[in-house]
Amino acid sequence: MTGAANSPLEVAAALAAVKHEIARACRDAGRAPDSVTLIAVSKTFGADAIEPAIAAGQRVFGENRVQEAKAKWPPLLAKHPGLELHLIGPLQSNKAKEAVALFDAIHSVDRPSLCAALSKEIAAQNRRPLLFVEINTGAEPQKAGVLPQDTGDFLKRCRETHGLEISGLMCIPPLEEAPGPHFALTAKIAARNGLKLLSMGMSTDFATAIALGATHVRVGSAIFGERH
Ligand SMILES: *Cc1c(COP(=O)(O)O)cnc(C)c1O
Repeated sequence: MTGAANSPLEVAAALAAVKHEIARACRDAGRAPDSVTLIAVSKTFGADAIEPAIAAGQRVFGENRVQEAKAKWPPLLAKHPGLELHLIGPLQSNKAKEAVALFDAIHSVDRPSLCAALSKEIAAQNRRPLLFVEINTGAEPQKAGVLPQDTGDFLKRCRETHGLEISGLMCIPPLEEAPGPHFALTAKIAARNGLKLLSMGMSTDFATAIALGATHVRVGSAIFGERH
């Protein structure tokens, strides 16, 4: 960690280093390198930091707030066809309309009211964002996400009550704990429920997440530098 945002040249170099690490983690795990999608988390960074990543070939980006993404992404998406934008942060039901319009994937499905709002917007806009259910693997009271023991029922409700097709699970392990057991638990719950995608692993632990089955890693500061 440099303690500062990366310059455009540093973004390209850091991105290459992260991709190299992903390839190595895949090799170590006996997995194909293209079995992991790198989501470059650009929250708090502007087009000056994002453009060098696009120029270096990065196509999938993540944001954690709808308002921030709405303010900065439409011009970038218009200028660079083929980009994919993922919402990785909490989503309020009253922002479901904007989220479905802007994002290609939503990683934070975690309650029935949000399911209802998403279901309505998906039908109205004829858009099909990839959906992940967020699991609160540490059962942290302040954290969003479905409790591990409630996941089966919640997935059933997504499907049967709201007609939503859920593709995978997402988790954010507690800060102060080793992430491995949380990734393993998320992978186990996904397997039990027949879900193929796993959104897990950030700048400090994406290699561990890949070893435990991550298909989507969400990496911010290791690419763009420190956030302020
Ligand atoms: C910010 C954020 C990330 C990326 O975190 P880094 O430590 O900067 O890689 C990943 N996932 C979520 C949900 C985030 O909010």
